[in-house]
Amino acid sequence: MEPVIRIRGLKYTYDEGSPDEVEALSGVDMDIFPGQFVSVIGRNGSGKSTLAKAMNAIVVPDEGVVIVNGIQTSDEDKLWDIRRVVGMVFQNPDNQLVATTVEEDIAFGPENLGIPSKEIAERVEEALRLTGMEGFKDFPPHMLSGGQKQRVAIAGVIAMRPRCIVLDESTAMLDPLGRKEVLEAAYKLAREEGIAIVLITHFMEEAMLADSVYIMDAGKIVAQGSPSEIFYEVEDLEGLGLDEPQVVELSKMLKLRGFDIAEGVLSSEEMADRLSALIRPGPREGIGGSV
Ligand code: ADP
Ligand code: MG
Repeated sequence: MEPVIRIRGLKYTYDEGSPDEVEALSGVDMDIFPGQFVSVIGRNGSGKSTLAKAMNAIVVPDEGVVIVNGIQTSDEDKLWDIRRVVGMVFQNPDNQLVATTVEEDIAFGPENLGIPSKEIAERVEEALRLTGMEGFKDFPPHMLSGGQKQRVAIAGVIAMRPRCIVLDESTAMLDPLGRKEVLEAAYKLAREEGIAIVLITHFMEEAMLADSVYIMDAGKIVAQGSPSEIFYEVEDLEGLGLDEPQVVELSKMLKLRGFDIAEGVLSSEEMADRLSALIRPGPREGIGGSV
C-alpha cells in the first residue's frame, strides 16, 4: 500500500543563516498509511509542530522530501492539492471557527474550492454525522463547548475529503470530556473512514490509543513502535520529557514486587482483569481447591 505521506531525510531550519537559526527538524523519516492512527509525542521544542506543518506544506523541506499523495510538498503549483489531502486542526478551538453558524463554518472550505452547493450540503451532513455533531448545524460556534468546537474544526476538514488529518495538540485546551469526544471522533475516522490520523499530544493516555507511536527529541525521531513497545521498552521516558502512563507505572511496580502479570498492559480495564484474576483466582486454582 502506498503511504498517504512519505517523509525522507527531512531537515528544516528556522531563520537559516541568521544568528538565531534553529534546526527544528534534523533528518526525519516517516510513512503514514491510509487508516493508520499515529501519535507523535516529545518534549516542548522537539519539533512536533514543525513536522506537522511540513505535512501540509506550511513549511517545505530544506533537505529531504515530504511526499503527499505522490506529490512533493515543494511543488508550489500543487499547494492546494496538498492542503486538501492533509487537513490540520490546531490547539486553540477559538482561532479556527470563522462563521456565524456551525453549518457555514463546515461549508467554508468546500465553498472556496468552488464545489456546487448541493454537494456542499451533502458534505456538511456527512461531516456533522462523522463528528457526532448532528443537531448543532444552526448553532453559533461560540455557544459550543471546547470539545464541540474542535469537532466542528475536524468536520470542516472532513468536508474537504482529506486522506489524512493532523491534530496538533488539539485536545490540549479541552476538559477531560472534550478530549474524549475529540479522540473518539478521530479514532472513528481512522477505523471507519480509512482517514489517516496523526495525533500530536502531550497526553500519554491519548498516545497509547495509536497503532504506532513516534517519540521526537531535538528534531529527530528517537523511537517508534507499538504503544506497548514504546511505553514498556523505551528506557528513560522521563529523560525524553515524557510521563510514564499510570497503568504502565503500576505494571512495572507489580513486577518489581514479584508479580509479573501485566507486562504490556495499556488499559485500566485490562489491568483490572489481571489483578482480579490474581486476587480471586478461578474455582480450580483457589486455595485448597475450593471457593
Ligand atoms: P514542538 O511542537 O515539539 O514544541 P516546534 O516544532 O514548535 O516544537 O519547535 C521546534 C524548534 O523550532 C524549537 O526550538 C522552537 O523554538 C523553534 N521554532 C518553532 N517555530 C519557530 C519559528 N516560527 N521561528 C523560529 N523558531 C521556531
Ligand atoms: Mg507544538
